[in-house]
Amino acid sequence: MSEPINKIKSRFQTLSDEMRGSDKAADFGSFLQRIGREDLGGVVTSQAPWAYFSQEVYREKDLGVKGDGGLGILAGDISKVAEELSVPLVVVTPYYSGKSRQALFDFWESDGYETLLPGEHGYEKLGTVKLSSLTYNQIPIDVYARRRGSVHIITLYEPHIGLLYYSESNSDHRLYQEVVTGFAGYMALRSAGLDPSVIHMNEAATVFAAVARLDDVCSQGVEFGAALGLVKATTIYTNHTLLQAAEGVFGIEQFERLVFTNIRNKCVVDWVRSKFGNDGKIRLSTLAIEIAAKKNGVSKLHSRLSSQNYKDSAGNAVEFHNVTNGISDRWIYKDLRKLYRSVGALDELGLPTDNYAALLEKIEVKEIKHAKQAARKRMNRILKFRQDQRGNPVYIPDDAIVFDYKRRLVSYKRFDMIFNDIDRLADILQTHNAHLIFTGRPHFGDSGMIDELHRILWTIENHPVLKERVHYIQNYDEQVATALAFGGDCAINVPIVGQEACGTSWMKDIANCKLLISTTDGGVADVNPPVYLDVAGASYADEANALYDRMQQACTIIENPDDLRRRAIDQLQAYLPTISGPRMIRDYLEL
Ligand SMILES: *Cc1c(COP(=O)(O)O)cnc(C)c1O
Repeated sequence: MSEPINKIKSRFQTLSDEMRGSDKAADFGSFLQRIGREDLGGVVTSQAPWAYFSQEVYREKDLGVKGDGGLGILAGDISKVAEELSVPLVVVTPYYSGKSRQALFDFWESDGYETLLPGEHGYEKLGTVKLSSLTYNQIPIDVYARRRGSVHIITLYEPHIGLLYYSESNSDHRLYQEVVTGFAGYMALRSAGLDPSVIHMNEAATVFAAVARLDDVCSQGVEFGAALGLVKATTIYTNHTLLQAAEGVFGIEQFERLVFTNIRNKCVVDWVRSKFGNDGKIRLSTLAIEIAAKKNGVSKLHSRLSSQNYKDSAGNAVEFHNVTNGISDRWIYKDLRKLYRSVGALDELGLPTDNYAALLEKIEVKEIKHAKQAARKRMNRILKFRQDQRGNPVYIPDDAIVFDYKRRLVSYKRFDMIFNDIDRLADILQTHNAHLIFTGRPHFGDSGMIDELHRILWTIENHPVLKERVHYIQNYDEQVATALAFGGDCAINVPIVGQEACGTSWMKDIANCKLLISTTDGGVADVNPPVYLDVAGASYADEANALYDRMQQACTIIENPDDLRRRAIDQLQAYLPTISGPRMIRDYLEL
């Protein structure tokens, strides 16, 4: 091996550990014992870790990496839970050279950018690996890393890597970002002296990691068929998309320029080439399906729909297992976290105990009330440093009810439904001394949604009640999500049924003893019949009516502490195992 590669290995091995011992819930051995999988102890090790590839990781507060939405939050939570359980995990992700920041001008959305350098955000440079392309011959990619306990974050940086999701899904630039994660990321892992036990692809965009491994195994002299078998058996593909047809497509000439140049073995190039359609195009999910023996969706409904919708390159049906997303403790207000443990509903590892449902009954009205009061203060402390639609901080009095809506502003999530009948909304808010806090950013260039946000913000401005009681928080991020998850009383989640892969915001809400108003979609639909305040109807208008009825009902429940306790505990009894991050880690280890 060359000189710089040896340096990567020695620097990787001597990274300082940022985690305090007290942050750990268990060593890996006791976790495996708890889930009855001691046999995995010799399989997933620090030398042969679980290698998790993701185009986004959202853990801004403690790892200085920001994502765009649920996919990145999931990656962040997997890494967070893994470090608490001492699971040997390496997360591989690009280090974007900037992040965007939303600011409103006259209620019009605009983006500002902040340049980022990994060295300024706690990452240590291990060395450089090289990619090849027809256009540039060699592209040096810097490898940076940091370590938290058993978890390493390897991040790949090059000044032109650009911003997350800034370019079109089928552009050369997007393909380049994906090649960086897959090929440079795999090279970085190997250079660090690691031989992953599992390649886990968080979405098909990371498929080149598995292709790089296939190429590596072939280079070691293994015959192609055997190499493919070996790689398949140790690759997981987690899908978050609903329709294969909705994914970006790449042309063969794009692969010639940027992908094939990074593969050494002709048999691997030929295999990838054979997966292109007659039109000379490919979707990365087609490759992901063919290279991963294990595939999963992220809620029961989504896994079922994926199994119906996705086909392999020969047009055959594909089986998707299910691993419903979970969340880490970072989303649960600390007093409530302690409460669930003190009544014995969650064990010291964060897994629900056998009789968690009965044990939750021990939680008293006043305990919920005290925790929620403290959580409300925490929310106000965060919102003091944020801006509403007029650029002002928001403060909500202790005795007011807070409804919240917090998610990306994409049309299927239907934030507009809350504003379908503004007088009815105003009436509910005023009658019950309630406020609505909503937040979320339209996607780059989504002019329809940018217009819609502007229209709604104007409507609010011109309504005497809404103006006082509806607050839009600019620049939705992890911090705003935390504030609302902790301090709100009732969350609204109304995606079009069948369109949310899982969603995790609603888990944060249930975990914080809030009421949930929701359509029966994504992971919410994992449990039947509904224990939340469900929104259903034959038309949009019917659903909107149901939403207002539910908001009214929620106010009545919240005004009566005994009723609130009952509902909150019902929700926890139904969803605690689903929500549990350690449960999700267990499911992935099983897979
Ligand atoms: C939890 C969270 C998400 C995920 O939201 P869903 O819409 O429920 O998938 C997205 N962005 C941020 C900042 C979050 O905290």
